[in-house]
Amino acid sequence: MDFYEENKEAEFLIIGAGPAGLIVGIQLAKLGIKAQIVDRNKQQVRPLCGEYLSPEGVNYIKRMGLDDCLDGFNHLLGMTIFSAGGIKVCTSFPENSYGLSLNRETFQTRLSKKFESLGGIIHYDNNLKDILTHDNGFKVITSKLKINTKYLIGADGRTSKVARILQFKTDLPGHKKVAIHCYLKSKKPLPPHGQMHILPNGSYVGINPIVQEEVNFSMVTDQQAIKAAGSPRELVNFWLRESSFLSDQFYPLTMEEIKTVVPITRKSAEIRKGNAVLIGDASGFIDPLTGEGITTAVKTAFMLCEEIENGANVKEALLRYEYRRINDFIQKERLNKAFQKLIYSKFGCEVLGLTLNLSKRLRNTFIGVIGNVYTPNEALRLLVKLYLTERF
Ligand SMILES: Cc1cc2nc3c(=O)[nH]c(=O)nc-3n(C[C@H](O)[C@H](O)[C@H](O)COP(=O)(O)OP(=O)(O)OC[C@H]3O[C@@H](n4cnc5c(N)ncnc54)[C@H](O)[C@@H]3O)c2cc1C
Repeated sequence: MDFYEENKEAEFLIIGAGPAGLIVGIQLAKLGIKAQIVDRNKQQVRPLCGEYLSPEGVNYIKRMGLDDCLDGFNHLLGMTIFSAGGIKVCTSFPENSYGLSLNRETFQTRLSKKFESLGGIIHYDNNLKDILTHDNGFKVITSKLKINTKYLIGADGRTSKVARILQFKTDLPGHKKVAIHCYLKSKKPLPPHGQMHILPNGSYVGINPIVQEEVNFSMVTDQQAIKAAGSPRELVNFWLRESSFLSDQFYPLTMEEIKTVVPITRKSAEIRKGNAVLIGDASGFIDPLTGEGITTAVKTAFMLCEEIENGANVKEALLRYEYRRINDFIQKERLNKAFQKLIYSKFGCEVLGLTLNLSKRLRNTFIGVIGNVYTPNEALRLLVKLYLTERF
């Protein structure tokens, strides 16, 4: 039988102790607001994720003075993109920027400690069950607690239960993509670059070289491809044999653990409802193609607290956050969708690869947009300048 501790009180209650929930908790604590977090896990765990933090994500963490949470993680200096037709494009992040190969359990444990050291409380092992709305906010019921809160922050990921219970409008993805995740062993030391492999059937692979014995591997594909291969393991091994770029670098899977995850996208048509607001994946996630989910989690958490700090009152701050969450990301989301379409077009992909290989500055600008070092508009201006001065 469930045991309930009655009527805890919190001004701000955050559901989810992932990067979005922890960062918002830390930033609120810095404003003198002691928030509480509930999470269904018993402790911080290593989630299924490519664990690549983009240069923009690194910059946000530094800007918040949380650099020590990034200590010891390897730098990624760029991305290598492999097209289905055999074109290899090596890029470097521009402006001396770099991404990181995280271990998310370590990263989130450090963030949790930081939050707790600022007086925050995390209630682990508390699965969200229900939310009752009342005049002064919400009564949140978890598997072990009942907490009254004035403001509620949903940081509970792509399958957000906060959004479901409070009936936030959501557009479900029209496709049935699946992510396969595992760790591989590399045959030789790998350069400090992430890798993106576009496969002939439109599936793609993201590779993050954490260390030689532990290369983080994610493949986004569809159920049919898994069915045709027999199992996720056989599908991964098929491509590890079939693609010379992959077979040159990695051993096939034997007994390594392999997991699948679905859904891998979320489209939120509503970000705020009264005193409840969504951040991180709960507020929308396209898919892992450009590896910026952690960055978006960090950025939305930062944005919300920036509005709370600058606003006359919290209600107004939530409204302004909602506006920014919708508008500040539009350009990049459109670009990501266009990029997503491009990888399904074999021809388009090869033309992109050939074009990028014409100029180092062109490909570094391209990866600068993907890693959010430049906004799409800034990149366009740079490209026009580049074309006029150098003709590539
Ligand atoms: C295969 C794959 C690879 C990826 N690779 C990358 C990558 O390389 N780089 C990158 O930036 N992003 C990547 N992403 C995306 C990234 O994982 C997410 O964008 C990021 O984790 C979002 O952070 P978040 O804090 O919003 O949510 P989450 O990290 O999902 O955290 C949500 C938290 O809420 C808790 N929770 C959920 N439901 C409940 C409930 N009912 N009650 C209580 N607690 C609850 C969970 O336990 C969890 O701790 C990848 C995603 C996939 C699927």
